[in-house]
Amino acid sequence: DNPIQRKPSWIRVKAPTHPIYHETRKLMRDSKLVTVCEEAACPNIGECWSQRHATMMIMGEICTRACAFCNITTGLPNALDADEPRRVGEAVATLGLRHVVITSVDRDDLKDGGAEHFAQTIRAIRAAAPETTIEILTPDFLRKDGALEVVVRARPDVFNHNLETVPGLYPTIRPGARYYHSLRLLDRVKQLDPTIFTKSGIMVGLGEERLQVLQVMDDLRSADVDFLTIGQYLQPTVKHAAVDRFVTPDEFADYATAARGKGFLLVSSTPLTRSSYHADRDFAALREA
Ligand code: SF4
Ligand code: SF4
Repeated sequence: DNPIQRKPSWIRVKAPTHPIYHETRKLMRDSKLVTVCEEAACPNIGECWSQRHATMMIMGEICTRACAFCNITTGLPNALDADEPRRVGEAVATLGLRHVVITSVDRDDLKDGGAEHFAQTIRAIRAAAPETTIEILTPDFLRKDGALEVVVRARPDVFNHNLETVPGLYPTIRPGARYYHSLRLLDRVKQLDPTIFTKSGIMVGLGEERLQVLQVMDDLRSADVDFLTIGQYLQPTVKHAAVDRFVTPDEFADYATAARGKGFLLVSSTPLTRSSYHADRDFAALREA
């Protein structure tokens, strides 16, 4: 087991007390929807849910992979719920969101990796809430030929796929995945449909070096990726990878400056940045600019 380190002063999270937080929670329960906010024990839940910004996780709560940083349960997932896309669409309409982020577990057990279910969910949101912009955060569809095309054809506004860490740490942190496969996937989205914004992110504090992070930025820009998120890795339980160190707010600011200099259109790099953190606000600001 890896003991959990005490968090530094700059990682402070407010307890969720806002009335809208409880409304969001009730809607997720009543609609039988799973959120990554809860499943991943995200530290921002109080802030995000108080603004109705919940990231729904489709295709169940059980993942076929077991990444060393992730709090999602591993195992053999249940069959897909054919009614889920409709319920997601309705929940998005009820929440009245201008931007929504939809993610999923990894479904290596399905022939198409869940691509068609993603596409159906995008179409259901478009039908129920035509004004809402849609961001999807997908698995890597490793060895699922044709899956990516199915998702891209459904035309999400933002296609997000996280690299999670620097390539040198993949064997220990993300053993089931391939860095260059993930990079090519992002590149391919842009080639298939250049009107879709692409986005990726990494966690830091896992043992990476600054130069390796800068190299990841260059790799992403060479794949024409538009948006970047960088946040501190927090260890969910003693069974997960240990935090190597807490990256300081100044270092995060330095990464943000470097990323903007390399041409990313949107950058979020703070200790509490998560893939979907402020995604609504940032994307709205970009569209208005
Ligand atoms: Fe949910 Fe993302 Fe906000 Fe975390 S940062 S609470 S995962 S919307
Ligand atoms: Fe978690 Fe995604 Fe890895 Fe599954 S594939 S364990 S959901 S990070």
